[in-house]
Amino acid sequence: MSDDCGNCGTRITPGTAFKTANDRKSERLVALVNLVQGTTFTELCARCGDAVIAQVHKGIDGELAERSRFVEARIADFPMMTLSWLPARADVRLKNMVTANVTVGTGFFSEFSQGFSDFAGAVNVNSGMSFKVNKGEAAARSILVAKALALGANCVLGVDIDYGTTGNNAATVNMQGTAAVIKNLDEVLDEDVYARAEELGQAFGRIAQLKRLRAGQIEF
Ligand SMILES: [Zn+2]
Repeated sequence: MSDDCGNCGTRITPGTAFKTANDRKSERLVALVNLVQGTTFTELCARCGDAVIAQVHKGIDGELAERSRFVEARIADFPMMTLSWLPARADVRLKNMVTANVTVGTGFFSEFSQGFSDFAGAVNVNSGMSFKVNKGEAAARSILVAKALALGANCVLGVDIDYGTTGNNAATVNMQGTAAVIKNLDEVLDEDVYARAEELGQAFGRIAQLKRLRAGQIEF
């Protein structure tokens, strides 16, 4: 390897008190740029590579944020059944129990009355108890989904939800279920429900891929 950048020819130099360093970019970063941009760089240095690399990272981060928003909005599409039985044709493999305990805010009793007003549509729903409980439920659901995915599951069966209060008046949402794989999920779920679950699953897959990319893992 010469002391000049193989791409732009600029000298690779360590920084001194009087001169800014020009470092050679790692093979990983060069490969990442090539993969994302469709380029064929063999080398990059700070001078010719910094802007390109920043652009690649910005692109990955942007798509990550976009996919994350999609997942958040569509988290309820992850198959969660409250039933403990399944159609006989379901090819089920059980994983393990998954649980989520979420505290949704203090002042439950003081806000409880406001919750009733919420149902009547009289109060700003963004500050009311029902909003908080819904948020808590969504958070608990997200936790269950994350745990189920980590186990390699594609659904959670026998989901049970409990609501409670803590000693200091916080409301809690407790959710639990059994993570499982239904191999023929497409035959078990109704078509539109399956299609939505598939879209969510693709988004999860892409997020995992983008996170690996962001961490510099390009081997896939
Ligand atoms: Zn260069």
